[in-house]
Amino acid sequence: MKRHILVVGASAAGTAVVQHLRRLGYDGALTLVGAEHHPPYDRPPLSKRFLAGELRPEQLWLTGAGDLDRLATVHRGRRAVAADLAARTVTLDDGTVLDHTDLVVATGVTPSALPGRPGAAVTLKTLDDARAFAARLTAGRRLVIAGGGFLGTETAWTALALGCEVTLVARAAHPLPALGGHVGALVGERLRAAGATVLTGRAVSAVHARHTGPGEGPVTVELDDGTRLPADTVLSAIGSAPATDWLAGTGLDLTDGVRCDAGGAAAPGVHACGDVASWYLPRHGGRLRLEHRMHAGEQARVVAANLLGDAQVLDSVPFFWTDQGPHKIVVHGVPAPGARFAPHDPDPGRDRFTGVYRKDGRVTAVLAWNAPKDALRLRRELLAGPDPADRVPARR
Ligand SMILES: Cc1cc2nc3c(=O)[nH]c(=O)nc-3n(C[C@H](O)[C@H](O)[C@H](O)COP(=O)(O)OP(=O)(O)OC[C@H]3O[C@@H](n4cnc5c(N)ncnc54)[C@H](O)[C@@H]3O)c2cc1C
Repeated sequence: MKRHILVVGASAAGTAVVQHLRRLGYDGALTLVGAEHHPPYDRPPLSKRFLAGELRPEQLWLTGAGDLDRLATVHRGRRAVAADLAARTVTLDDGTVLDHTDLVVATGVTPSALPGRPGAAVTLKTLDDARAFAARLTAGRRLVIAGGGFLGTETAWTALALGCEVTLVARAAHPLPALGGHVGALVGERLRAAGATVLTGRAVSAVHARHTGPGEGPVTVELDDGTRLPADTVLSAIGSAPATDWLAGTGLDLTDGVRCDAGGAAAPGVHACGDVASWYLPRHGGRLRLEHRMHAGEQARVVAANLLGDAQVLDSVPFFWTDQGPHKIVVHGVPAPGARFAPHDPDPGRDRFTGVYRKDGRVTAVLAWNAPKDALRLRRELLAGPDPADRVPARR
C-alpha cells in the first residue's frame, strides 16, 4: 500500500500535524478526520474573550478558508468509532473504513459529567458550547461553577464581568490546586473581592432540574455537605478524560491517555499528540499528559518530523498561561505535585510578582503574575541549567 497518513482529531494538535507534514515536504496521501463541523479553532478564548462577546467565531479559526482542504482530505463532522492496528484501519461513525499506513491520534479530551440528571449542567469545550453558554450569561443570572481549576476560575471572572452572580465550588482548599496554595489562595481572594462566592473543600454531589435540555431552566445544586444552591445555570468544570473510547481493544496503553515515547510513538505506525497523549518528557524525567495549547503544537511538530524519518524528542520546557480576569498568570515548566512555590516578592499586595517551584532541590517551574517578560527571563536563568535529559534515557 502507498503511504497514507491518517490524522484523527481536527483541532490544535491534529491540524498542526497536517500543516507541518506539508511544510516539511510530505506529498503523499493525507487524511484528517474531525468530529466537529466548524473549521479548526482556538479553544482558549472560549472561556475568556469569546465568552465575553469580544470575539467573533471567524477570529478563532486556526486556518484560512479552504486552506485545510488544499492540504488534506478532510472528513468534517465525522467521528472515529473503532481502530484495528494490525489491519491499519479506522472506522468512522458513518461506516466508512479508512485504510492507512500511519495513524496519528489527536482526539483531545472530553469534559467529565457531574453527578445528577444528564444535561442539567452545561460544559464548555466547543464553540457551540460557548455560544449556548454565553447566551445564558446575562446580568443578574445565577451561575454555579463546579470545579476550581483553570476552566472554572477563568469562567468565573468572565461571568462576573458580564454581571452574573457567581458561585465557584472548589474541591481543594483553594482554587487552582495545580499551582499550589500561595497562588491558588491569591486567586480565591481576588475572585471574592471581585464579587464571587468561592466555596472551597466542597464538591457538587448532584444537580437537580425539572427540565430536560442542557441549561434550560433553574436548577438546584447539591453539595457534599448537604448545602443546596439555587442557580439558573450550572457549569461542569470538574475536569476531562482523554478521548480514547474509539481505541478500546487495540492493545494501546490507554491508562491516562495514549502512552507515547519521547517522540510521540505509541506503537508501530501509531503516534499521538496533544491533550490525549501522555508523553515521556526527558526534562521532566517521567510521563506526563498536559492540557496546554502550546504543548499540543510542540508535540504536533515533533510527530510530523518523526513521521518523515526524523528521530526528534520533545525537550522543550512546557509553557502555559491562564487569564484570571485582570490577572495574567504565565508558567514555564511543570509545577509537579508536591513542588513548593517560593515567591520572589512575597508581598501579595503588589499585583506583580514572580516565583519558582522546587521539588527535591530542583526547580521544576517558574511562574509570573502579571509579569510575562520576567517569566521568560527566569525561564532562561533557572530552567536552562544542566539538562535533566542527561540523567535519563532519551526515549522510553
Ligand atoms: C475553554 C478552554 C479554555 C482553555 N484555555 C487554555 C489556556 O488559557 N491556556 C492553555 O494553555 N490551554 C488552554 N486550553 C487547553 C487547550 O485548548 C488545549 O490544550 C488544546 O485545545 C489541545 O488541543 P488538541 O488538538 O490536543 O485537543 P482538542 O482541542 O481537545 O481537540 C480534539 C478534537 O478531536 C475531536 N475528536 C474527539 N474524538 C474524536 C473521534 N473519535 N473522532 C474524530 N474526532 C474526534 C474533538 O471533537 C476535537 O475537535 C483551554 C481549553 C478549553 C476547552
